[in-house]
Amino acid sequence: MTILFASDLDRTLIYSKNSRGQEVSTEDFVAVEWVDEKPTAFMTNKGLQLFQHIASSTTFLPVTTRTAEQYNRITGLYHTVEKPKYAVVSNGAVILEDGEPLAEWSDKVIAQMQQNRTSIEHVLPQLDAYIKNKFVLNVMQAESWFVYLIIDEHVFSVEDFENLSQIFYQQGFSLSHQGRKVYIMPTCINKSAALQFVAERIAANTVIAAGDSMLDFDMVLSATHGFIPSHGEANHKGGHLPPHVSITTQTGVLAGEEILKKVNDYLL
Ligand SMILES: [Mg+2]
Repeated sequence: MTILFASDLDRTLIYSKNSRGQEVSTEDFVAVEWVDEKPTAFMTNKGLQLFQHIASSTTFLPVTTRTAEQYNRITGLYHTVEKPKYAVVSNGAVILEDGEPLAEWSDKVIAQMQQNRTSIEHVLPQLDAYIKNKFVLNVMQAESWFVYLIIDEHVFSVEDFENLSQIFYQQGFSLSHQGRKVYIMPTCINKSAALQFVAERIAANTVIAAGDSMLDFDMVLSATHGFIPSHGEANHKGGHLPPHVSITTQTGVLAGEEILKKVNDYLL
């Protein structure tokens, strides 16, 4: 039997200094990512141990909105276990197989984006009005795939988010608000379709999926068992959840540890 554990990374398994929470003392953290030799993402020691056990006893699939380059910085996950054969990056626009993008997958995504008119060149002109707006600090591009806004969290309101969502939803985008970032994601770029492709490719019988944001929500719902950290956008905006989806009792980095503990228990 092949069990696939597909998980989002940031704010699900790994946490920045800002998102990790206050409950854990500094010596209980272990860094898993470094930028310019400075640690930027963390797990608990216990969480990393559980992760290593899971990754060596089942198939782990990282499913992240990070680009391949950003994903490859998270070297601390793979010090003692082999890097997984597959990784879903750029929110599902790219599937890495042995570190190389699968062209057959991304070509399909590109064709769909052209057909739906949801490519970056369709989004950028519409954002001009918002760039001058009070809450947008910067407009960023994730390679050629999608756009995300860096917003001023103190000024950005729920209504601002609802307005943006409405405008772009009609045009074929999903929006997700995570801290200082608002993602404007073409609906044809999604984690659940990429996960399904990999699950079929490796003939997985059971899929366990975890994720915190609305960009993870469909993937978590479509799994055999799903986990959402209680601090997650998907918990607050997801509405009624079916019984195969669990919400953690913990928040922050401890929610990540709790998910890994439950996945580990499932595998025993
Ligand atoms: Mg996340």
